[in-house]
Amino acid sequence: MIPEKELQKHFGFSTFKNGQKDVISKILDGNSAAAIFPTGAGKSMCYQLPAMLLPEMTLVVSPLLSLMKDQLDFLTAHHIPAARLDSTLDRDETNKIFEQAKNRELKILMISVERFKNERFRYHLQNMRISLLVIDEAHCISEWGHNFRPEYLKLPHYQKEFNIPQTLLLTATATAAVIDDMCGKLDICRENVVVTGFYRKNLFLKVTPAAEADKKTILLKRIQRTPAAPTIVYVTLQKTAETVAAFLYENNINAHAYHAGMQSRERENIQNRFMEGSLACIVATIAFGMGIDKKDIRRIIHFDLPKSIENYSQEIGRSGRDGELSLCQILANRDGINVLENFIYGDTPDKRSIYRLLQEIKNNNGFTWEFKLTRLSNEINIRALPLKTLLVYLSMEGIIRPKTTYFDEYAFKFFSGPEKIIEQFAEERKQFVSAVFSHCQTKKIWTSVDMEGILNTYATNRQRIITALEYFNEKGWIELQTRQAVEVYDIMTQAFDMDTVTEKMHTLFVQKESHGIERIHQMVDFFESRSCISRQLAGYFGETLEKEHCGHCSFCKNESIELKTTARLKPLSNMDFNDLTGEFITVAGEHATEMNLTKFLCGIYTPVFSKFKVKAMPIFGALEQYPFPEVKKWIQASQKLPLPNPAG
Ligand code: ADP
Ligand code: MG
Repeated sequence: MIPEKELQKHFGFSTFKNGQKDVISKILDGNSAAAIFPTGAGKSMCYQLPAMLLPEMTLVVSPLLSLMKDQLDFLTAHHIPAARLDSTLDRDETNKIFEQAKNRELKILMISVERFKNERFRYHLQNMRISLLVIDEAHCISEWGHNFRPEYLKLPHYQKEFNIPQTLLLTATATAAVIDDMCGKLDICRENVVVTGFYRKNLFLKVTPAAEADKKTILLKRIQRTPAAPTIVYVTLQKTAETVAAFLYENNINAHAYHAGMQSRERENIQNRFMEGSLACIVATIAFGMGIDKKDIRRIIHFDLPKSIENYSQEIGRSGRDGELSLCQILANRDGINVLENFIYGDTPDKRSIYRLLQEIKNNNGFTWEFKLTRLSNEINIRALPLKTLLVYLSMEGIIRPKTTYFDEYAFKFFSGPEKIIEQFAEERKQFVSAVFSHCQTKKIWTSVDMEGILNTYATNRQRIITALEYFNEKGWIELQTRQAVEVYDIMTQAFDMDTVTEKMHTLFVQKESHGIERIHQMVDFFESRSCISRQLAGYFGETLEKEHCGHCSFCKNESIELKTTARLKPLSNMDFNDLTGEFITVAGEHATEMNLTKFLCGIYTPVFSKFKVKAMPIFGALEQYPFPEVKKWIQASQKLPLPNPAG
């Protein structure tokens, strides 16, 4: 087989990009492999071509819908039978995809990682034949990466459960430790890991020390030089995206904000306008850019510090894909470091929250533990992401084991009446179907299924009921919908010591926290570096540059890159504790713990705050510029004074 010929035949490209051939050969030889190439280097081709040559379907897991959209458009344009399953599809579309997959009519099926928790999907997956599992943004599997996603940790388990013989990992950002970690989890040998291409000779890496107050003017002047050049300005906070975009717009720059707080329709619209060139400049939080494949982005300007070196590398990597000179400029000072760090502190749960979670497990009757994530998150006051992480930690500790996710609310619309459906069956089946419908309640359009009611009166099980509903759905007799995911875990032991486990789990979070803080400092050092920035950046991802100086970074141009603290903060000791905390303490009562007070003042949202409507309190986030540990210390010290002292 000559893969070049195949490449030409299926995709119209005459040559491979750096690293592609190597990875593709490993896959076609029957191995699992990893491709670590920077953004835009062509990682997707590493599965797209094999997908055409492997006997069965390729299943691609991505963290984001937008990532899949572009890839799917590309595949469809090349007449490759591919589909994407997502929650925006209606019943017919979803069923059609399941049918095609089962009938081996699809070469590529793309899903989000959450899809695996969907019982309906898992039910259908058992009947699909899959040759290759592709994990896009695979660094998400590693806690030592910059974007750990707890759901990703379960992928090795699914790969085994569904007997998928080969795995391919794709990522643009894996340090050596992350590579070892993810390859270990998916049994990939080191020799099947291909790392290439981090150095970009057409990117000018510029670090501009700037006082906070001057940044907008510097930014405007820079954009005014060539106002039509496609530009992405990255900021940390949503409100900064709004204010900076408004400022540019007032100054006649064709700019718009983009962030996760906006409606997805609007976001999509802005993205499309940017892609087609009718919008020149996007001011975005990191929500923007994953999977963007626009060749002529001329400028990436970091208005705030990026979250990490990995983020920086990905974000600048979106520019100059056409090979033309592009500017990557960062307007930097030390002022924003506290805000960045506070994001990390906000993810460390209170010990008392961990304790409450353990209590739930210990007091659970029986060995199956079921809960809804949002309810649990609100009840024990741990944000969703750290809560998922905690559940993974407890699984690794052998206390619980993830079993499945199901939807406790099944609801449907009738297309033909229940009698017509019951008529289709005979004998025991008829009785069963009648039992199901006799425990359904119709309100206006939707009929809800009372699972408990059925189970209490008819000798059957959940799986049979779901299978039946699926069948009616496939037949077009009903339109089935699932709502409210319920997580199901097996409890492996209740004989653990509450204090010991609480302490241990808390320690894990504290380690994670200090690791995160360390990474921020490492990044600041990186921008202030005393050597070539391009060389350092490539080195971070394990690539060695031959030349000592790239000649196209601030260091090589002898520019000054010392970062300063430019904002002057009033010392905490001059603040009035009562003024700042009085309202919150009154409203929060027993929840006004030291940790919650600190989060409140630093503007870090935590689930319990929704009850107190803190976002409407003007004091919320009053100290967001201050370091979290200092605020906490100040609270501790202030509470020792004879003042109305809250519980906890
Ligand atoms: P990554 O996932 O590494 O960021 P993509 O897979 O999105 O990059 O590919 C970037 C671009 O390169 C896409 O437009 C893709 O079509 C193109 N591309 C991929 N392989 C080749 C090739 N062999 N020749 C030319 N263009 C290619
Ligand atoms: Mg990609």
